[in-house]
Amino acid sequence: MMDIQQIRAKVEAGQRIDREEGLYLLQEASILDLGTMAQAVRYRHNPEPRVTFVVDTNLNYTNVCDAYCTFCAFYRTEKDEDSYTHSVEQMMTMVGEAAEKGVTTVLLQGGLNPKLPLDYYTRLVSETRRLYPQVHPHFFSAPEIMKMSQVSDLPVEVVLAELRKAGLNTIPGGGSEILSDRVKQKISRLFPKGKTDDWTTVHSTAHRLGYRTTATMMYGHLEEDEDVIEHLDHVRSVQDENGGFTAFIPWSYKSDNTALSRRVKALAGANQYLRMIALSRIYLDNLQHIQASWFSEGKKTGQVALHFGGDDFGGTLFDENVMQEAGFYNRTTVEEIKEIIKDAGFEPVQRTTLYDLVEDPLSEGVTAR
Ligand code: SF4
Repeated sequence: MMDIQQIRAKVEAGQRIDREEGLYLLQEASILDLGTMAQAVRYRHNPEPRVTFVVDTNLNYTNVCDAYCTFCAFYRTEKDEDSYTHSVEQMMTMVGEAAEKGVTTVLLQGGLNPKLPLDYYTRLVSETRRLYPQVHPHFFSAPEIMKMSQVSDLPVEVVLAELRKAGLNTIPGGGSEILSDRVKQKISRLFPKGKTDDWTTVHSTAHRLGYRTTATMMYGHLEEDEDVIEHLDHVRSVQDENGGFTAFIPWSYKSDNTALSRRVKALAGANQYLRMIALSRIYLDNLQHIQASWFSEGKKTGQVALHFGGDDFGGTLFDENVMQEAGFYNRTTVEEIKEIIKDAGFEPVQRTTLYDLVEDPLSEGVTAR
């Protein structure tokens, strides 16, 4: 019979827990047991009582998408009046405006637009590098990379190599949702496109080519607890290969204006978020950073999550649109983020996309690397 003391002893000894133990923690452990175990692991990976954040923005180049995911409120078809696809020049104006606000990381993502050639994406990267060297392009999640591969008829590895040549060296972890084909089958209209293997292949190939990437998880829809464990297991296995993940970022599904909402009985709340943060900190023994953002469950829950294993507070997300379309509006400023972190009992430190610390945060404007 499994019990919490056995698992705690293993975790304290720095041993890896298995799927069964992970499931036990998710289903049976008290939230306080989870929190204390996770926090001990957090200090093993990050001994200082500081919490990092990044000054970033989320921009979108197109909302035209032919994937029609049931959980998405952002996509449009080409015929919709409010569909758009921005030119590289228009995007550079937006990146320039972000740079003026002191943004050091631009997270850029879009729908899967079949009309955009690979050259469009490589130019977005190279023009950002050329015009705004102070901005780090953190562009294109795995499904977009797969789309580029399909449209250009080139293998994923070649697409990633072309983007790398243009100046890209990090990519965000979006598009994983839950890495379990049982779930993907239920939430994706185009399954078997966008299988678990696609996401893990893009990330492990990127890591082999020298990219650093993040891993994410969107929970709180049609998954079972076993699927969450499967997700964490995939992330841990990819990380074992080359150690290319910088951080793990869980967030909950936001339902407004999405087709999936009718099939989701109850949305996950603060309690589930804290459990996810703590469990991922314990299960992902090979990742240094777990992001406990203010964004998913609000600022107060974000603060508590810093005591449940989170050591990073995400970004300022100045122009976030995807969650906004799903009825979720949440805004902050650099000063507010620093205050929230301080109030939670930690020292706020600005970081770069690659999780290096910025030693002189914000005092001389942009200090990106
Ligand atoms: S989640 Fe991404 S791939 Fe899916 S419909 Fe929305 S924009 Fe398209």
